[in-house]
Amino acid sequence: MKFDVLTLFPEMINQACSHSIIARGIESGLICVNAINPRDFTKDKHKKVDDTPYGGGAGMVLMCQPYFDCFDSIEKNSDTEVIILSPQGKTFDQKMSTELSKKSHVILICGHYEGFDERIKIYTKAKEVSIGDFVLTGGELPAMCIIDSVCRNIDGVLGKIDSAHFDSFSDGLLEHPQYTKPRVYNGLKVPEVLLNGNHQEIALWRRKQQLITTYLKRRDLFDKFAAICNDKTDLKLLNEVISEFK
Ligand code: SAM
Repeated sequence: MKFDVLTLFPEMINQACSHSIIARGIESGLICVNAINPRDFTKDKHKKVDDTPYGGGAGMVLMCQPYFDCFDSIEKNSDTEVIILSPQGKTFDQKMSTELSKKSHVILICGHYEGFDERIKIYTKAKEVSIGDFVLTGGELPAMCIIDSVCRNIDGVLGKIDSAHFDSFSDGLLEHPQYTKPRVYNGLKVPEVLLNGNHQEIALWRRKQQLITTYLKRRDLFDKFAAICNDKTDLKLLNEVISEFK
């Protein structure tokens, strides 16, 4: 899978991709992240990429020419997905992340300063994506959030793909609590069920814990899950959780 990131600060992307799981994914050839700087495409002799807004107002607006030309320099295919990072876009979530991970090519266009000349969105036919209802100084951190999350869904990027299957949101619920060695620390014990080696019991306990965690932390997700749940075991656990915690 290839990501092309249009950014005035390619080092932010290169740096963030040079650690841990993403760096290993790149090294193994499963993913490729290419940061391209629109400034390298400007025809302005002072390498200008932004200008003051028509109609007045504060801040600088990213200009069409460097972004159009930078975008045109990227080879696309019928599977290419184009995303423009914007606080006004659709909020990124696990569902979008899973869908994106099926693509072979994603272009991420990062803004900065006051944002883009509106014509850049029109020309690139990009989907506007936000990472939440807050405003950041630039699109580089949002782009990295998307790259990081999407890469976790690609087979082979994580040590075991299973570790992504049980993550929060993968089936609409939050993940169950996790424990590691030692069995007792500062008087705090690991639940006995996790130590007995009975995999069926452990799976059932974990499923119920997922439901409890979701019920207590994200009632909206719990209600959504309850409305469509038709698995006998889940339904039984669901009713237990509701009666125990209501
Ligand atoms: N003036 C713009 C507005 O009010 O909608 C905000 C521009 S922001 C300061 C600069 C750039 O940061 C944006 O063009 C976008 O690329 C990025 N950005 C900021 N917040 C973001 C968010 N929540 N999600 C995605 N991108 C964001």
